[in-house]
Amino acid sequence: MVPKKASSACRNNFVLVVFDSCRYDSFVRARPRNIKRLGKIERRWSYATWTSPSHYNLLSGLMPHTSPKNVYASEYYKKDFLCFNDRLGCDNIEFRSLVPRMYLPAFLHDTLGYRTHAKVSLPVLNPRTLLNTGFDSYRLMEKHNDMRAMVREMRFSEEQKSFFLLNVGETHYPYALPDEPQEQWPRISGVHGVFKHLDDHVVGGKLVTRKEKFFDSAKLELLRKRQIRAVKHLDGVVEELFDLVPKNTYITITADHGELFGEDGYFGHGPIQHPKVWEVPFVEGKLR
Ligand SMILES: [Zn+2]
Repeated sequence: MVPKKASSACRNNFVLVVFDSCRYDSFVRARPRNIKRLGKIERRWSYATWTSPSHYNLLSGLMPHTSPKNVYASEYYKKDFLCFNDRLGCDNIEFRSLVPRMYLPAFLHDTLGYRTHAKVSLPVLNPRTLLNTGFDSYRLMEKHNDMRAMVREMRFSEEQKSFFLLNVGETHYPYALPDEPQEQWPRISGVHGVFKHLDDHVVGGKLVTRKEKFFDSAKLELLRKRQIRAVKHLDGVVEELFDLVPKNTYITITADHGELFGEDGYFGHGPIQHPKVWEVPFVEGKLR
């Protein structure tokens, strides 16, 4: 077990960046040259198909999985938790370190003495939710799509190591960049209104053919391209993050779930059973 208040024993700050709804193939198509400096971009699979359960899972310490064959789940979890030794620059973290609470921010804060901060974009993750446990600060950003505003608020300390969760919304529907006027966002019947009510979890589902055409393939292709464009933009913001973080900072970049752009009649994420809603990018490392 890790001794109490052992932050001096951990050498790294840890930043977990979650591009909301970002599909693996959108991420790869954007060719993010800055992000690639962290390491190899892996295709992994999310444990959940929408924002809240997926973030709970990430904050319980389980990153998107590799879908390994011929292993027991418990063995995979144990092995996966050992990665926190690399992430935090510690030597003795194991699965049982997080038991019984199974919640990474509380473990980092209470046991390892980290300063813990969350900056979230999606209102379903707001500070009143149960996710806000073990954090020194937890903030729902003013705009749902401005990672740069998060980076500008980040402060690191010499005395205490820091953990940051950044939930990034540029890759979420409607895939709008922060300087793009709202009247230029693509308007989709139904979905847009839902998003205005900031109810992320109902964005998505099986497309219904009605008299009025709900989605056409050209519009879906436009949306897919907008998500790729959002990743390109975020790659520039990640460069600013790299410039800001102290040397001893480990960064993990992933997504909470994928997104459907018309495949087999689906759009979005949430109540969808389709391989593309599980497929997410995963890349992590320390800058040399
Ligand atoms: Zn999400």
